Amino acid sequence: MRRHSFFVFIGILCALFYWTFGSASAFAADRASVGLPSSTVKTNPERAGKPRQPSTDAAKEANTEKKEAPEKRGRAAKEEPIIRVGLAEEQASAVLTSDGAYVFRDAATGAELGKRAAGTVSTVTVKNRRFVVDGKDVSAKKIRFTLADERSSRFLSVAGDKYRGTILLLLADDGTITVVNEVKLDDYISGVISEEMSPDWPAEALKAQAVAARTFAVYSLGKHDDDGYDVCATTCCQVYGGVGSESPEGLRAVSATRGEIMTYQGKAIYAAFYASSGGMTAGSEEAGGTALPYLQAVRDPQDGVAPNRHWQVSMSPRELASKLAAAGVSVGTLKAIELTPLELGKSAADRYPSGRVKNIRFIGTTQKIDVAGPKLRWIVGLPSTLFDIRYGTEKKTDPNTKGKIEITNPNAVIVFDGYGRGHGVGMSQWGAYGMAEKSKYREILSHYYRNVDVTWLF
Ligand SMILES: [Zn+2]
Repeated sequence: MRRHSFFVFIGILCALFYWTFGSASAFAADRASVGLPSSTVKTNPERAGKPRQPSTDAAKEANTEKKEAPEKRGRAAKEEPIIRVGLAEEQASAVLTSDGAYVFRDAATGAELGKRAAGTVSTVTVKNRRFVVDGKDVSAKKIRFTLADERSSRFLSVAGDKYRGTILLLLADDGTITVVNEVKLDDYISGVISEEMSPDWPAEALKAQAVAARTFAVYSLGKHDDDGYDVCATTCCQVYGGVGSESPEGLRAVSATRGEIMTYQGKAIYAAFYASSGGMTAGSEEAGGTALPYLQAVRDPQDGVAPNRHWQVSMSPRELASKLAAAGVSVGTLKAIELTPLELGKSAADRYPSGRVKNIRFIGTTQKIDVAGPKLRWIVGLPSTLFDIRYGTEKKTDPNTKGKIEITNPNAVIVFDGYGRGHGVGMSQWGAYGMAEKSKYREILSHYYRNVDVTWLF
C-alpha cells in the first residue's frame, strides 16, 4: 500500500460531496482532487468540528493510551476521538488474525463470544443473517474483535493487513459483511499521511499535510454514517492502509502536530489539497463549490518547484470533437474555439479570478456551446483547468492571442497548454514542499487556508 513516488498523490474525493463532473480519479495527476461542499449538497454541519465521542466500552478502552500528556502542552486534556473506517463492504466472509491473543464480543451486548491465541486465524461467515465464526453460530449481528491485551504492541489483521484499534464486523441489510476499523484519530492519520505525501518530503510539508488530513477527517466524521462508519479507506475519502501504510517520517509529522486541526468559526474546515497549483490556487467556487472565506485564490510562487508543472495535451480537431460528442456535447465538425488568453490571476467572462477556465466555447457545424472548465477537464483528461489553447501543425503551434482560434485545417493540432495538477483549491502539495525550505508548517497552512485558526482538538 505504501507509495514513495513523488508523483503519486492520493487525494480525497467523495461521492457524497459535490464535484461538478464526476470522479477525478480518471487522471493519475488528479489523485489529490477533492469534492467541494456546495449548497446543493447535504453535509452535516453539526458534525464538522465536533469530535465523535467513543460510543462503546471497547472504543474507550482503545483510547486509553496517550502518547503525550496534553498538560505538557499547556492545554486542557480532551479525549482523542475514535474514527470508524470502512475497510470493505459486501464481503461473503472475513478472515482475521493477530500476532497477539485476541477476543471477539457481541458488539451489541459486550458479551464475550470467543478467544483465540496469537497466530490463530478466524474465518467469519454469515448464515441465516447471523454471524458464524469458524463454523460456530455466535448469534450476533455485530462482532467486535480486540486484542486480549490492548496495551501490547500487537495488531489485528484483516485480509492480511495490520490495523491499530479494533475490528468491527457489521451485517449489512443484504446479508453481507461490512468490515470496519475503529481507530484513534491520530492512528488513522498515521495510516493516511504516507499515502498522501511521500515520506521523504521535507518535515514541515509533512506536518502541514498531517494537519490538513486530520482536519479533513474531522470534517468528514459521519460521512458514511448510513453504512455504519465515518469514512472509507479509498480516494473517495482518504486512502488509508493501516499499519502497512505508516512510515517513520509520517509518524513523526503526526506526533509533532498531535490533535491539531484548522477551524473557521469554531468548526473544522474543508481542508482540500492537490498536487500543484501552477502558480496560483483556486477559490472554492472555481471547482464547483460555494465560495468559502478560507478557500480563496492566492499567488503561489513556491509551487514552482513542482516537476511537470507545465503540461501540454495535443489532439486533432476531429479527436476533440469526438471526445466532446462522447460526453454528450456534439457540435458536428469543429470550426472554432473561443477562450480569453490566459493571464495568471486575471479573471474574464470565461475565466475565474485565478485565471482558470470557467467556460470554453466550441463552435461547430451543428451548434456552438459553452463547456465548463472542470467538465472539459474531465472530458479531455487535462491535469488542471489553468490552461490556454494553441493551434497549428505537428511542427509548430501558435498561441491564442485573439481569444479565438479558427480551425481551417482538419489535420491541424489543437494543444491544451496549461499549468499545475489538480483542482487548485486549498493546499498545493508541491507548494508546501517549496515553502518548507523557509517556512514552518503553520505558515504553510495559513498561506493556503485563509482566516483559519489552528487549534487542538485533543
Ligand atoms: Zn468515502
